[in-house]
Amino acid sequence: MLTVDKLDLYYGDAQALSEVSIEVPQGQIVSIIGANGAGKSSLIRAIAGIEACRSGSIRFRDRSINGLESHAICNLGIGQVAEGRQVFPSLTVLENLEVGAMLPRARARAGARRQLDDVFAMFPTLAERRSQFAGTLSGGEQQMLAIGRCLMGAPELIMFDEPSLGLAPLVVQEVLHTIRSLNQHGMTILLVEQNVAVSLKISQRAYVLENGRIVMSGSGEELLHNDRVRQAYLGL
Ligand code: ATP
Repeated sequence: MLTVDKLDLYYGDAQALSEVSIEVPQGQIVSIIGANGAGKSSLIRAIAGIEACRSGSIRFRDRSINGLESHAICNLGIGQVAEGRQVFPSLTVLENLEVGAMLPRARARAGARRQLDDVFAMFPTLAERRSQFAGTLSGGEQQMLAIGRCLMGAPELIMFDEPSLGLAPLVVQEVLHTIRSLNQHGMTILLVEQNVAVSLKISQRAYVLENGRIVMSGSGEELLHNDRVRQAYLGL
């Protein structure tokens, strides 16, 4: 569904990604793991059209998306749940969700109402708190809202950047359960998650990014049992 081929990305003279190639097949969860500063967020931001690449290609459903504006990329069906729960704090829960439904793609599907019902069914807390300002929600609720807002845009693939960052352990479980459940309902997912053990467990495929380069890839299960991954990322 998504193919990244030999992507190079620079910030000024500093190279952040070097010949990065990944495949995200439809219906799968694919994880990117790597240390701080390895380039994981840069890769997600490049795919989302937020950072411009120097060379390489990004294709979504056989269409080149290099150089498209980020809203156009969203509108093709690539949603993003960015690091840090980027909700609009002074809008209500419902207004935040309505912003997600403003994409032409979502309106064309004529299902914004149904989409909202689906999001409320998935996250009953958001339904109960629909009139509450998003800034007053707990961290976990804000993450649910960020996911709900993304779903309102009717994406086919969702990229998650550190979805469990800063959340309490129980809430982390809930967020990862939500991601898995979305995937079981057919959503394709590209996941960057600091909780490496759990992310490998729920991923069909994973890539290890070190200093801007992919140094290893395999099934989640394979990487979970790989000595180098166990030492470097699982502390075993
Ligand atoms: P983390 O897990 O800490 O978020 P990461 O793997 O997501 O790390 P990136 O945030 O993609 O890594 O950063 C990769 C490299 O690019 C780092 O060296 C970082 O300092 C640098 N970098 C990231 N964003 C910028 C920017 N806007 N300007 C300059 N350098 C940047």
